[in-house]
Amino acid sequence: MSRTYSAEGIVLKRSNIGEADRLVTFLLRYRGKLTAIAKGVRKISSRKAPNLELLNHVKLHLAKGKTFDIVTEAESIEAFKNLKSDLARVSFGFYLAEITNEFLAEGQGGRDGFELFGKVLGLIDQENNLEKIKLFIRAFEVKFLESLGFKPELDKCVRCGRILGPSANFLSPEVGGVVEKSCRGSTLFAQPISRNTLVALRFLQREDWNTIQRLAVSANLNKEIEGVLRFYLEHLLEKEIKSARFVNKVVGRQLKS
Ligand SMILES: [Zn+2]
Repeated sequence: MSRTYSAEGIVLKRSNIGEADRLVTFLLRYRGKLTAIAKGVRKISSRKAPNLELLNHVKLHLAKGKTFDIVTEAESIEAFKNLKSDLARVSFGFYLAEITNEFLAEGQGGRDGFELFGKVLGLIDQENNLEKIKLFIRAFEVKFLESLGFKPELDKCVRCGRILGPSANFLSPEVGGVVEKSCRGSTLFAQPISRNTLVALRFLQREDWNTIQRLAVSANLNKEIEGVLRFYLEHLLEKEIKSARFVNKVVGRQLKS
């Protein structure tokens, strides 16, 4: 097997290591998540460094290493400049990178994950409407869950299989979807889900990006969808999504000013 290879990926995470090096986690188009070492990138003279910023889409050359593969070259394909020019949009990007990184183990993700992640970054880069951007993120969450094999059941009661009525439903990550009130029981970890939120989630699950781009939702509904998905994602991850707080702080501040 060759000691070197090329790959295309998006930077999900970076952390400092040693004097001047950095560990960089990528979501690669064909190989899934990969953490590699970029040597000397914290030196001012580094030519690779500007291309290895968080959320950059890059073309890479790598060499096989013992613990980590080594980034020998990094060339920018897309830097998502609009996204990075605005703190609110950057915070959304960080949030997406965090959930993608947290859900994937090394080697996981692959082509579906890469395309989904690249698509949503491109849409956020080109969109100015805050509610639309939020909806793109929710669509990403729904589609990402599906790509991971965690597609929530939203049409039938998970427990009895009956088609769900319009009201008195609960979303439960524990059983992988929605249950009716009568099937919920007393111990199931679940959260009420309104009719409109359920309809919106089904829409995001079924429709493609072109259709989703045309949908307009109210700020209130957007907030509700965000709440149920956060509940679902954090339960699956078994931890808090840290950058969600940063998003709320930055976006909240922007709305007030
Ligand atoms: Zn039922």
